[in-house]
Amino acid sequence: MTQSGEKFDLCIVGGGLVGASLAIAVGDTGKRVAVVEAHAQGAPGQPSFDDRATALSNGSRRVFEALGVWPRLAAHATPIQTIHVSDKGHFGISRIDAREEGVPALGFMVRNRHIGAALMARLAELPAITMFAPATAGEIEFGDSTVSLSVLQDGAGESGARIRARLLVAADGARSSVRSQLNIESESFDYRQIAVIANIATERDLDGVAYERFTESGPLAVLPMTDEDAPGAGGRATIVWSLDSKSAEQVLALDDDGFLAGLQEQFGFRLGHILKAGRRVSYPLALVRSDEQVRARLVVIGNAAHSLHPVAGQGFNLSLRDVAALAETIEDATEAGEDFGSLDVLNRYADWRERDQRDVIRFSDGLIRVFGSRNPLTRTGRNLGLVALELLPGAKRLVARQTMGVAGRLPKLARGLSLT
Ligand SMILES: Cc1cc2nc3c(=O)[nH]c(=O)nc-3n(C[C@H](O)[C@H](O)[C@H](O)COP(=O)(O)OP(=O)(O)OC[C@H]3O[C@@H](n4cnc5c(N)ncnc54)[C@H](O)[C@@H]3O)c2cc1C
Repeated sequence: MTQSGEKFDLCIVGGGLVGASLAIAVGDTGKRVAVVEAHAQGAPGQPSFDDRATALSNGSRRVFEALGVWPRLAAHATPIQTIHVSDKGHFGISRIDAREEGVPALGFMVRNRHIGAALMARLAELPAITMFAPATAGEIEFGDSTVSLSVLQDGAGESGARIRARLLVAADGARSSVRSQLNIESESFDYRQIAVIANIATERDLDGVAYERFTESGPLAVLPMTDEDAPGAGGRATIVWSLDSKSAEQVLALDDDGFLAGLQEQFGFRLGHILKAGRRVSYPLALVRSDEQVRARLVVIGNAAHSLHPVAGQGFNLSLRDVAALAETIEDATEAGEDFGSLDVLNRYADWRERDQRDVIRFSDGLIRVFGSRNPLTRTGRNLGLVALELLPGAKRLVARQTMGVAGRLPKLARGLSLT
């Protein structure tokens, strides 16, 4: 096949949280970007911009500030002042506090649909970005200096428009079709857990405290939210309750009263009574890692590159640092007169991001393996671990830095600096 068709600098397959963020980061520097997204803009079924809430680290806030996305998010963001970690039925408790860390907030809770709306509004302001949505990526073909793909839009069948770019980015989620089309293997570990998500109302306000409680059946996070749709006295929170598959099925099948009673039993009365719970939604949990993240003219990013257990709220924060580093690598290469789609340049990006990715994956996965264990030895160890975390400021700082997204060499955007 010939390498013809409309020419872009970058073509991103997948316009979810990560793909849209990358499009803005690169489009903001004036490069021509095509985004091929399976769902129409604003469609209720968009899986990335759903009813979940995401804990954004301070590093992510800085990236969004530098990209001009934060002004639209700030009004919807609930600051996290304290993270409170406990182990149900055991003595260890640990707190990480924003004041101790010398920051106004450890992070921010924002609903994914608000992040999606802010990203789409910013995308629309950047003339360098072309959205193909709803559309999927068809056949991909690599040439020496470009990569081409057919864009399959509704009703166009297999004969979609062909576009060319100097770099193709797969940001199409954990079950990436680009990865499979290019025979890129992935390693997957099924946690045999399902995350049950719901919004709840509590008797007492959370006052900016994010609770992470490790229970026999799995970790339960109760995270502070402000509810613009249903304001009122007491607290508003979103829960992420990771349960083994069988318990999750039972919890999902409970009526509202049964669900509230089960949740109260696991969480206790720190927030008084749990008064109400909204619709429950579930997500199966697995650790998925792509065997390759770069090839000549290709980068795999976001959930397509690494999809993590949400226990530590790190998946998107990590990917946003990848986005910032990739955009900076592309810009630096351009300034130096290099071909940013070449393997040499892309290897620089991969080398840069290797350590942060490895550390965050280890951290999230380790929490599940240690705190998900019923083994009494591991349980003693984890209680000691929580106490040690409380008593050793150095250890706590390390976890706090990881949580805030400030560990390792930070890309410019994550320091709030512009790329140009
Ligand atoms: C329960 C839960 C809670 C979480 N909480 C947090 C948190 O607090 N903090 C945090 O940092 N992270 C959190 N995460 C992780 C975060 O949600 C992911 O890191 C993020 O969704 C990854 O975004 P993505 O754009 O890579 O992939 P996705 O969100 O999967 O988006 C992929 C996009 O690609 C599109 N697409 C798919 N296939 C195609 C195709 N063939 N052609 C074109 N388009 C395609 C999809 O429509 C979608 O828009 C959580 C995850 C879960 C499951």
